[in-house]
Amino acid sequence: MKEAKIRLCVTQDLAEGQTIPLDQNQAHYLFGVMRLKPAARVLLFNGLDGEYLAEVVEAGKCKGRVKCLEQTRPLQMPPDLWLLFSPIKKARTDFIVEKAAEMGAARIMPVQTRFTKSDHIRQDRLQAHALEAAEQCRGTYVPEVTDIRKLDAVLADWPSDRQLIFCDEALIGAKETLQAQSDIQKWAILIGPEGGFSDEERAKLSALPYVTKISLGPRILRADTAVVVALTLWQSTLGDW
Ligand code: SAH
Repeated sequence: MKEAKIRLCVTQDLAEGQTIPLDQNQAHYLFGVMRLKPAARVLLFNGLDGEYLAEVVEAGKCKGRVKCLEQTRPLQMPPDLWLLFSPIKKARTDFIVEKAAEMGAARIMPVQTRFTKSDHIRQDRLQAHALEAAEQCRGTYVPEVTDIRKLDAVLADWPSDRQLIFCDEALIGAKETLQAQSDIQKWAILIGPEGGFSDEERAKLSALPYVTKISLGPRILRADTAVVVALTLWQSTLGDW
């Protein structure tokens, strides 16, 4: 059997024997760019049904069809971890979304804090980055990227059973703090903007019953580095690593 290297995220249901029509972009990528011919194998996933090996049955210029042969992997859900971050410059925000998807965040939520510089994001672009990251890292799940909301509004309807990790550059110590709460199932991580949190935000967050404050070490990290470090710390302490 020829090895299937290309992974494609599709929107249709996947099941053995199912034929999947390709849209113009997908057909262009598979047949124009990657030069696949009928009978070539690809891997498909849709974020719900796991991963399927599929065979090209029609390869047109701007359309085509593939047929699901067999499931190659079941759906693997990430742990129940959200990432809340304050958007920074475009390329760095793209990096944050890509890394969060690769590192197993289940939901990615841009939030606007007092010192957030960009109050506008292209949610569709960021969602596409999360999807590409899942395609690339053999994920079978695509984290949802929500539209940007004010941090206050997010906290106002915060689910009471979810613990929020407030990454505060003014503190020391983290791993033990998290280990002590290993009975909690649902988590979220909050990373601030380049300007950090305001005193008011810091006081408000510190007083919330569902907030755990942690430090990410003695050096002040850039926001995009802090995202990767916090996800690593959480995954290796409480997650699926
Ligand atoms: N301008 C701020 C730093 C902001 S860093 C200052 O100089 O004080 C951006 C975000 O990354 C912070 O809001 C925090 O959430 C996170 N962060 C960076 N370094 C950290 C550290 N050592 N411990 C905990 N959080 C950190």
